[in-house]
Amino acid sequence: MAFEHTIARPVETSGVGLHTGVFSHLRLLPAPSGTGVVFRRTDLEGFEVEARAANIARVSYATSLMKKGVLISTTEHLLAALYACGVDNVYAELDNLEVPILDGSARPFVDLLAAAGRQRQRRRRRYWKILQPVEVSEGQAGTPGHRAIGIYPANGAASLGIDYTIDFSHPLIGRQRLNFVLNGHSFAQLLSRARTFCFYDEVEKLRQMGLIRGGTLDCAVVLTRDSLLNGNGLRYPDEFCRHKALDLIGDLALLGHPVIGQVVACRAGHALHTALVLKLLRSPQAWEEVNGHRRAATADTAAAVH
Ligand SMILES: [Zn+2]
Repeated sequence: MAFEHTIARPVETSGVGLHTGVFSHLRLLPAPSGTGVVFRRTDLEGFEVEARAANIARVSYATSLMKKGVLISTTEHLLAALYACGVDNVYAELDNLEVPILDGSARPFVDLLAAAGRQRQRRRRRYWKILQPVEVSEGQAGTPGHRAIGIYPANGAASLGIDYTIDFSHPLIGRQRLNFVLNGHSFAQLLSRARTFCFYDEVEKLRQMGLIRGGTLDCAVVLTRDSLLNGNGLRYPDEFCRHKALDLIGDLALLGHPVIGQVVACRAGHALHTALVLKLLRSPQAWEEVNGHRRAATADTAAAVH
């Protein structure tokens, strides 16, 4: 899509936060060109926290932003939906510190954005086109602890391709791989309904860490040693890998620009996703800013949103 977009009208939702368990109202409002995504804490006199890499605070089980001690927790599912639906500029008002988890997926945010509609703006969208590989990894290649993520030139395509592999030694997961080109349609169809997941064995540890206080079976898939606690089963057979790819898009959105390139991730997570974002910001030779043009693959996002 050649031009920046905001939403056509305000929309709102509410619910508890996954980690803090606090109830919050989320209101999305149109914002001028060049604003990006800006959170506003209405309980703190409208204090603003930009959804940018400079404000990344904590990335262990969710991606949280902090500026001058003011926190916005668990931003990734909302940011993924905004990125995939082609909404560049929006104010996201919150009256507490965590974005509602809703059903644990990005689907409620996609529906909210569809209800809001999109408004084209005058400014041309600026993409980051990847020119050279940028990679981040942990552990030794070929060992079970190896995790890696890299971004590469898109080979002539004007889009973001994602190739995501996970590997968990659990009978319902194992090795899962998803390879797709991101646009509003692929996001809505392939990823948007994939929910957050956790392992029942870890629930007590996470609670002791002060996390998942708002967690229930209505907002997460909970895995026991060989099965699921959720009575209704999975939404996709490879829901776990799809959710990881969804999280990746939300984390890449912190670059503040849509990306033209190819991401390959293997056993990654929020920590590696955000490490890649930060490394890209420190590697200006690896990308260039280009204007969006009509043939950009994200052009069909409008069809999915309206
Ligand atoms: Zn997630």
